[in-house]
Amino acid sequence: MNTNICRYCYKEIQDRDELVTASNWFRVRPYHYRCFELLEQDTKTIAGTWTPVNGVTGIITIMLMLILSVVMFTTNILGGIGDLLGILAFYPVFLRIFSYFVFEIRLPKYIENKRRH
Ligand SMILES: [Zn+2]
Repeated sequence: MNTNICRYCYKEIQDRDELVTASNWFRVRPYHYRCFELLEQDTKTIAGTWTPVNGVTGIITIMLMLILSVVMFTTNILGGIGDLLGILAFYPVFLRIFSYFVFEIRLPKYIENKRRH
């Protein structure tokens, strides 16, 4: 199964440069960069928002969440609530890893002459 089909236009995503993986609760889906912008406009009123998982803002969130979850798991600052926060904080980290192995690893980083749709 080819996982790198854009869920908006149903065409192939050819490299990581145009890939946006987005999460909405427990779903992660691949989109073209441009299609994701269109999707955001569409879904603002309908089905809630999709949060991009990959990209620069994603990485910063992941770093912060990873630190937070490690702190919560290795210390006893907030007891049981701390453990719960640790799990919640780990969730975006898990999504990022999932996105990487399911979608990004199969794509070349950048291809010069993409086939035009
Ligand atoms: Zn698309």
